[in-house]
Order: sequence, then C-alpha cells, then structure tokens
Amino acid sequence: MRSRPRWDQPSFESMFYTRLVCGLCSTVHDRSVLQSVCKKCGRPLLAQYDLESVSKYVSKPELKTRQPSLWRYRELLPLPLDLEPVTLCEGWTPLMPAPTLARSLGIKQLLIKDESRNPTATFKARGMSVAVSMAKCFGVKAIAAPSAGNAAGALAAYAARAGIEAHLFLPKDTPRANLIECRVMGAEVNLVEGLITECGLEAARRCATEGWFDLSTLKEPFRLEGKKTLGYELAEQLDWQLPDVILYPTGGGTGLIGMCKAFDEMQQLGWINTKRPRMVCVQASGCCPLVSAFESGAQFATEYKHVSTKAFGLRVPKALGDFLILQAIRRSHGTAIAVPDEEMMESATEIGTAEGVFSSPEGAACHSALKNLLNSGWIKTDETIVLFNTGSGLKYLDSL
Ligand SMILES: *Cc1c(COP(=O)(O)O)cnc(C)c1O
Ligand SMILES: [Zn+2]
Repeated sequence: MRSRPRWDQPSFESMFYTRLVCGLCSTVHDRSVLQSVCKKCGRPLLAQYDLESVSKYVSKPELKTRQPSLWRYRELLPLPLDLEPVTLCEGWTPLMPAPTLARSLGIKQLLIKDESRNPTATFKARGMSVAVSMAKCFGVKAIAAPSAGNAAGALAAYAARAGIEAHLFLPKDTPRANLIECRVMGAEVNLVEGLITECGLEAARRCATEGWFDLSTLKEPFRLEGKKTLGYELAEQLDWQLPDVILYPTGGGTGLIGMCKAFDEMQQLGWINTKRPRMVCVQASGCCPLVSAFESGAQFATEYKHVSTKAFGLRVPKALGDFLILQAIRRSHGTAIAVPDEEMMESATEIGTAEGVFSSPEGAACHSALKNLLNSGWIKTDETIVLFNTGSGLKYLDSL
C-alpha cells in the first residue's frame, strides 16, 4: 500500500502513465518531476502508457457508463488516479451530422465535431484542463503562456479554477473577446508587439526571471494529452469505426498530433482496427508554413514571414512540433492545404445558414478545404468526412 497522495507530492507509482520520451531523439525523461522540452534536443516530450494493463482494466462498454467529459479516459491521461482534476466539464462535445451541408456538397456523410461547446468556447480547454491539473499536481504556483487568444482565455479559466496565477502574453491586435475574458478570469494580460512567436520569446524571458512555469504549446507534454482525447471521443462516438477523412485547422498542431497519438494507442489497446483516417492539415493562405513544408517534402517547416490572417488560431509562423505534424499527415496518407480568409468567411456563413452552427474562421476553413479537395477528386463523395469546428464564432465578432 502506498501512502495517500498529496498535491505537492505526486506519486506516479501504480499508474498506467509510465514514460516520458522525446518525440525526435527518443531520450527518456523522468516523469516524476515537472518537465518541459527534451533536455538533449529541445523538442516536445510525449507521454507513454502501459496500454496492455489499461486494456485489462478498462473496457469499451465500461467507458459508456462514465462522465461526459474528457476525464472519462482517465487511465489514458497522466494525472495520478487519486487526484481530482482541475475541470470545468470539458470535452465529450457533440459529433453532429451536417445533412444540409452534405447535400449541397454532393457527399454522403459529413459530420461536425463541434468544439465550440467547450468551456471558454474553444477546444483549447481540453489541453489546459490536463496541463493545469498536472502543473497543480507538481505544486506550480504561477503559470505563463504566449497565445494568439484562445489558449490564453482557456488558461486564464483553468488557472483561476486551480488557484494558480496566470501571466499571459498576447499580440496587440488580439480580439477583444479574448482580452476581456482573460482579465475577468483574473489573469495578468501582457500585450506584445508582433505575433505569437514574439509573445513566446517574451514569455520565456519572464519565466526565466520570475520562476513561472511555461505552458507554451508543446513546451510541456500535457496539453497534447488533453487534445488527444479528440481522437478517443471521435472513435467512441462513431462506435469505434474511424472516418475516412478528418479536416483539422492546424496552428501549433497539438490536435492533429494528439489525435494520431490516440489512434496509435487505441490500436494497441485493441479498441480499433488498423483503418486510419487521412488527416488533412488546413491552414490559412496568410500563414501556411506546414503546407509549404508538406509540399516540398521537408521534415521540418521554416518560419513563415509576412503573416496575415483573421483566423487567429492559425497565426503560428513556426511550430515546435512541426516534424510530428508532418509525420502524422504523411503516415496517414493525408495532405495539407491553405485557404484564403475570404473563403473562410464565406464558409462560416454557409455552415451557419445550412446547419445553425456559428463556427470560428478556423473551423470554417475546413469547409473551404473540403470544397477544394472534392473539386480536385482527392476526397470522394462516398467517403465519411469529419470537420472540426474548433471554436465559436462569438469570439470573432470583429472579423466576421
Ligand atoms: C489554437 C486553435 C487552432 C489550432 O490548434 P492546434 O491544435 O494548436 O493546431 C485552431 N482553431 C482554433 C479556434 C484555435 O484556437
Ligand atoms: Zn530529444
């Protein structure tokens, strides 16, 4: 018997979460202390689990009886099992048929995973719930993060819930909804000249001097674990048959990398077969480093210059996990495609008019990409297609 767990003294004994490994050079890191990136190469760390034991402990029918939040996949998340998560009931969002939109596109089955239903109205809530839970578990008292807007809103909310200080670094032209949200949740808002890249540098500088924990995308391993639940939910909601194609608006790429990680884990758990969706990485024409890298066959992406798009979640000129995103797209026989802002805004109106979903420009971009890929024949009309609406249009009133 082990002693009772304490928030300031996490115990990872007898857990299914077993290892923390670098996604590039495979160096193993100590999971029992707070880690950020790989100590050897500076790239993201990935959590690994004893999936054989999980498969004996949890069954698919058992999952059905659990709470409608991402914490239903508790054994596949890194938080010690007897600690309470920091939660606002995130995840388990609806996967809705979009029959009118499907008819207008001439396709058989179209589904929208509507992530605007999450706390703080975007899917950033998923990553933050798990990452803030882990930070609290390690006794962190203050957290910082750069953000294009939505990550900041989510972090502000979860930090408030956890009783942790939040210091946020956002571009000067961040939508008002995000700034107001952060302040109302009691976070410190720092406006920075430039894009998320500059915000990231400033956040890192301040973390070094103030001793705050840096929660930047993929600079710690657990936002990814929260986002991977997108993949588990999709499978469970489709009765463990994955779709043919997934269109995903990609900025830092945690959702795309996370879903593919979930698919690998579920296959090892024996929950799904070997059939995988083709992953489509959708970016904005005004910021598409991954599309360029995909097309040129590169392993890493180069920083995108002259960024210009109203899809703030996609304003990421350089992603730390670029190689993981590119690998995930290629392994799935997927593709990467850029969409101009005007097409996104038209798509937002089409989705709203046809289905009553007020999508974010990022979510709408998936619809524009779908049209293009149907025209080129890359997607066939008899395939099952899932679009991700990653956030609510209500956060983008100035752009829409
Ligand atoms: C952050 C964000 C994205 C991009 O997500 P990643 O997983 O970081 O690629 C897409 N849409 C919205 C609304 C976002 O806030
Ligand atoms: Zn490494």
